Amino acid sequence: MRVTVLAGGHGGAKFLMGLRDRPDVEVSAVVNTADDLVVHGLTVCPDLDTVMYGLGGGLDGERGWGRIDESFRANEDLAAYGMPHTWFGLGDRDIATHLVRSQMLGAGYRLTDVTAALAERWRPGVTILPMSDDRVETHVVVADEEGRRAIHFQEWWVRHRAQIPATEFVQVGADAARPTPEVLAALAEADVVLVAPSNPVVSVGAILAVPGIREALTTTAAPVVGISPLIAGRAVRGMAEQCLAAVGVPCSAAGVAAHYGARRSEGLLDGWLVAPEDASVLPELTDLGIEAAAVPLLMSDPGDARRLADSALAVAQRVRG
Ligand code: GDP
Ligand code: CA
Repeated sequence: MRVTVLAGGHGGAKFLMGLRDRPDVEVSAVVNTADDLVVHGLTVCPDLDTVMYGLGGGLDGERGWGRIDESFRANEDLAAYGMPHTWFGLGDRDIATHLVRSQMLGAGYRLTDVTAALAERWRPGVTILPMSDDRVETHVVVADEEGRRAIHFQEWWVRHRAQIPATEFVQVGADAARPTPEVLAALAEADVVLVAPSNPVVSVGAILAVPGIREALTTTAAPVVGISPLIAGRAVRGMAEQCLAAVGVPCSAAGVAAHYGARRSEGLLDGWLVAPEDASVLPELTDLGIEAAAVPLLMSDPGDARRLADSALAVAQRVRG
């Protein structure tokens, strides 16, 4: 069975680990690249790397990003030189990845091909596909004593720890970006499409902002089933709450489902998983035409992730009838 997953970093990687462990699936992950940034001249792709390191056994699981057994000595020396952007910590091992990627991009390779080359080392067991080979960056419109301005998503999240109120998220470059042929094929040829429990605004929202991806999802013959990143109205980790507030979406499992929309009403979803704590919204989802189920959504270990993947595929099976 071919399964294509839309994914961000942390929630995406954990979910993909559970799915990958099933023997009967061939997984393609369409990964957000709008968190990418160029820092010290290096192209850094946080979500691609979280997925690649996570599935390849190289991720620092505690920190949730970057390499295991990491040190930050190069970053310390960059700071000693007074370089800007050292708030974005690049680990010494991690820098090797960014050096390889940046050199290959500089030589003219597509990000898709660079990602495949990096994956030859990590053998993640899934095909990792950047959502686009074109540069797209999420910028956050903020307002504080310095006035109203747009800053890179990473500056808002990592430097300011999402403490400056955000009023808008803009995917700069998305209008002119194209999905890759690999992404379009993975969506068109999938037997099942899953939307990982990733940030609905800056991860999945950024993927959907690439013209053509939403259309590919609404026209695929495969059932599309999503997993709520919110449990009892709270994000498990990260900044989904602040992001949803900024775009005016209720911070709840049902709110996110309605935001993606039911396929019946020109939205995306045929199915949606909520946590048992949110089971009271199941009738509401059924009314929208979404096949919904309440199952444990917290992925604390690979077993949890595997059971969640099983539940998502079971809902997809029910949709297919
Ligand atoms: P990021 O790019 O690293 O921010 O990661 P993602 O966008 O892929 O995932 C962030 C989202 O994952 C957050 O909204 C979390 O609520 C969600 N998340 C993290 N861990 C879990 C989990 O164990 N279960 C569920 N359902 N969601 C999770
Ligand atoms: Ca991310």
